[in-house]
Amino acid sequence: MNKTELLGRWTKEKSEELYGIKNWGAGYFSISEKGDVLVNPYKDNESAAVSLMDIISGVRERGLDMPVLLRFENLLDSQISFLNNSFGEAMKKLNYKGVYRGVYPIKVNQQQQVIEEVTKFGQRYHHGLEVGSKAELVAALSLMKDKEACLICNGYKDEEFIDLGLYAVKMGYKCFFVIEMPGELDIVLERSQILGVQPNLGIRIKLSAKAGGHWTESGGDRSIFGLNVSQLISMVDTLKEKNMLDSLKLLHYHLGSQIPNIRDIRSAVLEATRVYAELVKEGAPMGYLDLGGGLAVDYDGSNTNYSYSRNYTVEEYCTDIVEAVMSILDSSGVPHPVIVTESGRTTVAYYSVLLFNVLDVEKFEEYDIPDKLDESTSEQIKNLYDVNKNLSLKNIQECYNDALYYRDEIRDMFKHGRISLRERAFSEKVFWNTINQIAKEKQKLKNSPPDLEDIESAIADIYYCNFSVFQSIPDSWAIDQLFPIMPIHRLLELPKRNAVIADITCDCDGKIDRFIDLHDVRTTLPLHELKNGDDYYLGVFLVGAYQETLGDLHNLFGDTNVVSVRINPDGNYDLVKEIQGDSVADVLSYVEFDPKDMLVRFRETAEDAIRDGLISASDRREIMKAYDNGLRGYTYYER
Ligand SMILES: *Cc1c(COP(=O)(O)O)cnc(C)c1O
Repeated sequence: MNKTELLGRWTKEKSEELYGIKNWGAGYFSISEKGDVLVNPYKDNESAAVSLMDIISGVRERGLDMPVLLRFENLLDSQISFLNNSFGEAMKKLNYKGVYRGVYPIKVNQQQQVIEEVTKFGQRYHHGLEVGSKAELVAALSLMKDKEACLICNGYKDEEFIDLGLYAVKMGYKCFFVIEMPGELDIVLERSQILGVQPNLGIRIKLSAKAGGHWTESGGDRSIFGLNVSQLISMVDTLKEKNMLDSLKLLHYHLGSQIPNIRDIRSAVLEATRVYAELVKEGAPMGYLDLGGGLAVDYDGSNTNYSYSRNYTVEEYCTDIVEAVMSILDSSGVPHPVIVTESGRTTVAYYSVLLFNVLDVEKFEEYDIPDKLDESTSEQIKNLYDVNKNLSLKNIQECYNDALYYRDEIRDMFKHGRISLRERAFSEKVFWNTINQIAKEKQKLKNSPPDLEDIESAIADIYYCNFSVFQSIPDSWAIDQLFPIMPIHRLLELPKRNAVIADITCDCDGKIDRFIDLHDVRTTLPLHELKNGDDYYLGVFLVGAYQETLGDLHNLFGDTNVVSVRINPDGNYDLVKEIQGDSVADVLSYVEFDPKDMLVRFRETAEDAIRDGLISASDRREIMKAYDNGLRGYTYYER
């Protein structure tokens, strides 16, 4: 029995603490009395909570296999309300005279369902859209109906893009062109003259303020986008010359995404508001201050300025912004503008949960070794054995180095034919037994020696899971982003194993070996032992932002099945939409194979095999059926 077992029964509270679900769950995710993960978009209304295991069985009954991406429409709605209400309350409390008008940046999750839900539900707050390309503008105009909401056009704009935006203005949309580069202004003015529509202009500026964090290259003097101060002034002069200064209504900046430190947010707002006040003094009508994105998600729940966290709440974010804007403008007598933010990550991260089953486990073997060695054992193996037997807390670092040394020496001897395969196998057992003991001893130390920091992952089990990192959580692979991952059931049982996760691509990068932790990054995840024949399910949470369209077809694993869920206040739920994931034929056609043609060719091969007497005609029928089933199948492991 280990310590935890001696201390008493494992409980849901212990699971809550171990996996940090209350820290990162934002009140949406919790654990039930039965030990399942619950989802609840209504936070305080406990009777609305729905078990993810119930949803899985519903999904299974409808014939959809794992992996499945669940999208919870209400979580999207709830985040939009939360953001708008938080700004609303901050403005009321501080007696701000303007209003808040959020826009959702389409690039963060472009799925039609997301945009439709944002425009439909967001209407009550006049929550608008931000587009960064022609395609996104075309998508926005197909769904947006609200003429009070903002439609912000960032990005490189060609003539088609500009014409479409101008027609939107003509139709009554609050559509803004944000000028990102000096050269853009001429073409916007030219097209607006030709079409006879006065544009709403915005300017994107480069701030000198630069934020810490992972995605913050967009800020600072050398950022790719935006005008510097002298370019800004010369644009104001051009507008004055052309008698068009009355078109300049918005100031925009974007520091970058996931800004963990509130101080960076504050100093950027202060600087931008100063620029805003000066533009008003120059005679521009202005009226809109657009602070871009950056509102971070607390992925690890640590509430710190670590890259995947944030040291502020959404309420504090709103209050600090409103306060900062007022502190500058009130002293210069400039009216309060409409505050716009382009928060994408916070709006959609909670919305999607990826679920998959564990296919297999490679357990770390805790080898037993004998109490005594044969006299005939070779010297090096004896040395390794002595290291094992003399191990103590005081000398673990030394033992670790010695164990590695002797192991390598023994491997060399094997290569040169000086010991047998059996002897080498025995030495590996002694080695792993030693490493395992070192890892156990290490837990007694307050500060771990640097060399031993990752020793847990060396003796971790490998849980092979039915999903692709590359397709479903690309940022985990590309930039080591952390997402909360945990079992979604059996949470009243002690998770006895420490594991790393491998996906089913045969790529050694297709793994997860960094996990959230309050103080650090864990290298293993505590998981339950598989029970014979029972499915074991894990969830990756907060994957609604940026993951879906960045995902790729590595090893030709395609889109997963997607199910949209709407949870009702009484705890019933509807599966409002199902999207079948890619079939094998689908992904092959993405790389220019033609499934019909493939069938024809394979049939020829089978026919040849009949002619050569290898198979019978009825074999051919069965073989073709298997090939056809393969083409139609889901790209993931099917039951
Ligand atoms: C990506 C992007 C956003 C979204 O940022 P989040 O941090 O996800 O809220 C907003 N505005 C612009 C211009 C962007 O490029």
